[in-house]
Amino acid sequence: MKSISHWVNGSMMADKPERTGEIFNPATGAVSGNVAFADAATVDKIVNISEKAFEQWRHASLTKRTQVLFSFRELVNKNKEKIAALITAEHGKVLSDAQGEVTRGLEVVEFACGIPHLLKGGFSEEVSTGVDVYSIRQPLGPVAIISPFNFPAMVPMWFFPIALACGNTVIVKPSEKDPSAIMFIAELLKEAGLPDGVFNVIHGDKVAVDALLNHPKIKSISFVGSTPIAKYVYENGTKSGKRVQALGGAKNHMIVLPDADLELAADAAINAGFGSAGERCMAISAIVAVEPIADKLIEKIKERALKIKTGDGTKGADMGPLVTKIHRDKVASYIAAGEKEGAKVVVDGRDIKVDGDGFWLGPTLFDQVKPNMSIYLEEIFGPVLSVIRVKSYDEALKLVNDHQYGNGTAIFTNDGGAARRFQNEVEVGMVGINVPIPVPMAYFSFGGWKNSLFGDSHAHGTEGVHFFTRGKVVTSRWLDPSHGGINLGFPQNS
Ligand code: NAD
Repeated sequence: MKSISHWVNGSMMADKPERTGEIFNPATGAVSGNVAFADAATVDKIVNISEKAFEQWRHASLTKRTQVLFSFRELVNKNKEKIAALITAEHGKVLSDAQGEVTRGLEVVEFACGIPHLLKGGFSEEVSTGVDVYSIRQPLGPVAIISPFNFPAMVPMWFFPIALACGNTVIVKPSEKDPSAIMFIAELLKEAGLPDGVFNVIHGDKVAVDALLNHPKIKSISFVGSTPIAKYVYENGTKSGKRVQALGGAKNHMIVLPDADLELAADAAINAGFGSAGERCMAISAIVAVEPIADKLIEKIKERALKIKTGDGTKGADMGPLVTKIHRDKVASYIAAGEKEGAKVVVDGRDIKVDGDGFWLGPTLFDQVKPNMSIYLEEIFGPVLSVIRVKSYDEALKLVNDHQYGNGTAIFTNDGGAARRFQNEVEVGMVGINVPIPVPMAYFSFGGWKNSLFGDSHAHGTEGVHFFTRGKVVTSRWLDPSHGGINLGFPQNS
């Protein structure tokens, strides 16, 4: 049984916490440890440490900051399997998926290594005679990152490499469900040469989040999680004068046009619908089949779904368990609701049998889903795929655009013109064309529209650099030496 506490000033805090939460291994159902829950006083103490460290770190040269990030990159690469094992033990996703998560996070570290180039300001000479104007970008101070359970390494890595590279100090408040990966990452940052106090981790629940939202010394909040909490964090963080980017939930549609390659589309639906047991904000959960291809497409998806091996992510399974028993039961209750509302269950994930007390649920496929059903309207965040049959491209587009979420979407077609029209007309932040999970690269920005994002700044890419810095414009007039001052040998103006 492990006990995890806050990471402060380069080591784990020794004080005994007043409150703790249990950590589970979702593949066995057993408690594997406990994690401290910070109170407001602990948050205040750690924020003050972070503010003190900021006074030093903001003056660390660009060379020093990038040297730390380059070393960190090497260390993460070397320890990829160890980080993945920590993720799988607490999240449940299969090991290959957990390694993929680390790789995506590393891409942001690599992007942040280019910070000297990204922070270059502009300069205009002679805007008026003898007057120059230039712009610089400066760090904000201590910044907070509040992350969800589903990517315990990658989501914090969307933000902290860029925040640190820009000269900020960072406090991460990870999900209380899988806190170990970020603790190991904190150790690696220290080993990479990051000074103590520059990167801290606070564990906890709403109490810790509220204390961060209200703390006057926290300058920005980067939140990723469910829509109700994202909205709450955005409203309360901005009310207390902070810069906030709050990424929320999703319901990603995959449109399959009649001319699409149905083998490709079925493979994509399986990978994007059931990968990581559907616990991805970019998971496909609604397949919009434009007739007459629905029957054929459903048959191909069914065939593949029945072959998926659900089991322990460390033992060669295709799909792991859900993160907690509560979440597993919630997803199962959506399957019951869909059935009751009249959708047709083609594959029923409740039927699977896996040994042990893990939080198991197999892949589920629904046909005949209608836009007024709860399984269509709400985010399920589990291995449940719904097929909605429509008659035309316009009908399919309207479904996507009318939905409250706008994180990701995909279209499958062999018609370039149709795809081009879709990318222009769809009201969603990330679009895939014959690509089911259109996750942008680190040098582009990640984020959705509508109820999938509160605030106007997406994660990473140049938007990340802007989010973690403030602009300053300097107007400067230096008189010519001929105007006097110290006589340096220039001819003087009489
Ligand atoms: P969650 O909203 O329950 O938790 C996210 C964070 O908020 C955690 O750190 C948690 O401790 C904290 N939190 C939970 N309840 C709170 C409360 N009442 N007040 C203050 N803070 C609270 O989300 P989750 O279940 O951990 O993650 C899954 C959700 O995250 C899904 O909705 C998924 O779509 C979303 N997500 C979105 C993206 C994206 O890029 N848009 C990426 C990953 C996950």
